[in-house]
Amino acid sequence: MGRFSYLRSVSAQHIDCLSSYRNYNNFTKLNIFHFGYSMTVLSPSAEERLHTVLSRLETLLGSRISRAPSVLEEHSHGEAMESARLPGAVIFAESTDDVSTVLKECHASRVPLVAFGAGTSVEGHVTPPEHAISLDLSRMTGIVEMNPEDLDCRVQAGLTRQALNTQIRDTGLFFPVDPGGEATLGGMCATRASGTAAVRYGTMKENVLGLTVVLATGEVIRTGGRVRKSSTGYDLTSLFIGSEGTLGIITEIQLKLHGRPDTLSAAVCQFESLNDAVQTAMEIIQCGIPINRVELMDSVQMDASIRYSKLTGYRPLTTLFFEFAGAPAAVQEQVTATQEIALANNGLGFAWAESAEDRARLWKARHDAYWAAKAIDPTARVISTDCIVPISRLGELIAGVSSDIAASGLRAPLLGHVGDGNFHTLIITEHSPEGYAQALDLDRKIVGRALALGGSCSGEHGVGLGKLEFLAQEHGEGSLGVMRALKNTMDPHHILNPGKLLPNGPVYRG
Ligand SMILES: Cc1cc2nc3c(=O)[nH]c(=O)nc-3n(C[C@H](O)[C@H](O)[C@H](O)COP(=O)(O)OP(=O)(O)OC[C@H]3O[C@@H](n4cnc5c(N)ncnc54)[C@H](O)[C@@H]3O)c2cc1C
Repeated sequence: MGRFSYLRSVSAQHIDCLSSYRNYNNFTKLNIFHFGYSMTVLSPSAEERLHTVLSRLETLLGSRISRAPSVLEEHSHGEAMESARLPGAVIFAESTDDVSTVLKECHASRVPLVAFGAGTSVEGHVTPPEHAISLDLSRMTGIVEMNPEDLDCRVQAGLTRQALNTQIRDTGLFFPVDPGGEATLGGMCATRASGTAAVRYGTMKENVLGLTVVLATGEVIRTGGRVRKSSTGYDLTSLFIGSEGTLGIITEIQLKLHGRPDTLSAAVCQFESLNDAVQTAMEIIQCGIPINRVELMDSVQMDASIRYSKLTGYRPLTTLFFEFAGAPAAVQEQVTATQEIALANNGLGFAWAESAEDRARLWKARHDAYWAAKAIDPTARVISTDCIVPISRLGELIAGVSSDIAASGLRAPLLGHVGDGNFHTLIITEHSPEGYAQALDLDRKIVGRALALGGSCSGEHGVGLGKLEFLAQEHGEGSLGVMRALKNTMDPHHILNPGKLLPNGPVYRG
């Protein structure tokens, strides 16, 4: 009798209770209570199960499976290096069928799996657990259908938003959600991403009409559709948006597109006081000015960005970056109203980015702000907060956070999508347990303030590992219980990105 044959005869559905498990000479010893009888069996270890799955998949997927050290390293972390762990293998999916094939095997053998888009997430989202597969979707870059007359398109999940916008440029349409990194649209769905244009166009949540998703079992489903609204059934599309690869793997996305505006105009206004700049942003939104973008950098961030992005003509002062879009008359109206508000709040005047190149340089500098902050001390570690509050509370929050930063003695440039009430503090700290503890202390104070003002610990980056500790406080145990029940139903063996998003929730039962 083979080592595992007894176990194989006990189907998963018939197991009433796994009372304990532990690693034992490369095996996992299970005490199983089965229909009132107790028996002890030896099951293959997590490492052996991974090996079995990979040898089966090798015949089906061949060279799409990699164990090259450089590939494993690349998939061991996202932008947050600290939580890095090597996956057992990386599989490059090229179709929905590939994803389904991999998931069927992983589900049957209980091998954990982490979807990987571009790896730009910042909260440890893509760090694999032990003996896991990293499923890379970056080769799935097709535009499946283009419907310019309906302002929508269907794309594969590995396409980046920059590549999409380049390819559809001639249609006069574009996709507006713009997180700073060169992210994939699948990763953006999975983190419910937004960016500088969310104040006008919304986040991924508002810009996705439907999805193709491969469930944990390997079954393929389609959610939503092409219509702008539907009142039938549970909104499964929204369920997967922001689920961080814990409920299913997204392989196709039906996206809303938008017409490129006739006129685009960008300007910068500097302020001596952070409070005046924040007040300006709040009043612009409260007055209902349909601004395209309004972004803040405090003086520390501006100083870093001037040096990193070689910006000329600006002083290291708190700065608001504006973009206006629409028909020429509408743009003029927005500009006049915004200037009045900024000047009433002691703005030091508007500097216009006239040409398309100047505008591109300005927004590139904004998108590169994270790298500029990192360049302040290349040997240091950067921890990003991502709080959001209702717009009327933004001034209060930023004032409190500024005093927390000053009291901490840490350098922490502050920047953000202030039109949404969302901003980041990029806490710069040394690579030491003390430095890390000090940074986390500041992080917790900032999140505590945001939650007390009715906000959230993350407006756009997501939970991953980094924000797990705040979820109970933000959502309450009742809501977390519903989330855990959903996870248990949709991924009963907890193979999909285990350990992420849900605190003290399902862990991978190796
Ligand atoms: C410099 C910089 C600036 C940034 N600015 C912003 C910003 O302004 N706004 C913002 O929202 N974010 C920002 N981010 C964070 C990051 O770009 C986003 O979180 C982005 O959406 C991640 O996409 P990705 O393709 O890199 O996903 P990955 O990092 O590869 O994965 C992220 C998560 O999604 C899951 N996942 C990936 N693909 C799929 C799929 N097809 N199906 C199911 N799950 C999947 C992964 O398992 C993981 O949990 C920034 C990051 C950097 C480095």
